[in-house]
This record gives sequence, C-alpha cells and structure tokens, in this order.
Amino acid sequence: MSDETSPRKLNLTACAQTGQLVSGKTDVLELPRLRADLDLSGPPAPPIQWQARVQQREQAGGPPQLWLHLLAQARLPLSCQRCLKPAEQTLELDRWFRFVESEEVAQAEDDDSPEDLLVFEPQFDLLDLLEDELLLDLPLVPMHETCPQPPVLGHSDPAEVVADKPHPFAALAQLKKKSN
Ligand SMILES: [Zn+2]
Repeated sequence: MSDETSPRKLNLTACAQTGQLVSGKTDVLELPRLRADLDLSGPPAPPIQWQARVQQREQAGGPPQLWLHLLAQARLPLSCQRCLKPAEQTLELDRWFRFVESEEVAQAEDDDSPEDLLVFEPQFDLLDLLEDELLLDLPLVPMHETCPQPPVLGHSDPAEVVADKPHPFAALAQLKKKSN
C-alpha cells in the first residue's frame, strides 16, 4: 500500500484524482474506542473489512466537491444483556460523506445536507472515521436472538442445586438395595 492510500493518512486529493479503490482489513484491537465496547472473552473477532473511494464531483457555479464512499462489514462480539456472554453482532456500513473546508462550514451546512459532512484534511484518518461509524452503529442493547444458555438469575444456579443433592430416584434406588 503506497503512502497516499495509507488508511491512517489517506491523501484525499490524490485518491480522488486516481479514483483508486482503497480497501483493507483491520483488527478490532487496532481501534481502541471500539475495542473498549467489546466482550473479548471469547474467540478472537474476525478483522473488519472495509473499502473506500474518494470522488471529485463537479458542480455548476462552484468549486468541485470531494465525496467519500465508505463500505464496511464487521462481526463484533458484544456482551449480551440477557446472559452476559459474548454475542456476535454483524454490522454493515454503506455511507457517503462530503468534505467541506472547515468545521464552521460543516456546522452551517449540516442541517441542510442529507449527507454527512467531514472536514477536509490533507491526510485523512480513514480508520478513525470507520471507528466512529461502527460505534454509532452498535446496538444499544445487544442480545443473542436465543441465548446459548438460559440466564442465571440470582445465585441459585439450577445445575449446581441438582449436582449437590442426590436425585430423588437415585436415593430411592439406594434404599431399595439396602432393604434387599
Ligand atoms: Zn445471551
């Protein structure tokens, strides 16, 4: 990967000129803010797959605009709010962004623009944007569709209770043996 397409310092202007597709796989461990929200007690999460393309669009009566199309697919282990075990959530991103020259312009135009606005930077951190978007997309209450094990309520684990006491029929069988 050349310097111009390095995802932590993407050269937006160069990418728009070549129209080159930039893509890669990123380990969740490289995204510390996202990582903090994950339940990493299970098997390692697969890398996040992403691709991006920068486009320059001509517009009548003004300077050309820079747009970014970001696609990503992630399978992230979140903590199930029912059973507290890792629950894998699949997230798919498909987003368009338009670059503006400053934070002020972004704020001024934000309400009128259906697309998301980003402030232009000569070396743009694409992975930081990817992380932002994945964080926004995380479910508020992650849950298994069906939990692998029924949730444990309080301290009385039914499995332990059964293990501690002999099965009533087993006890009966012992009694029968003795009486013979
Ligand atoms: Zn669960």
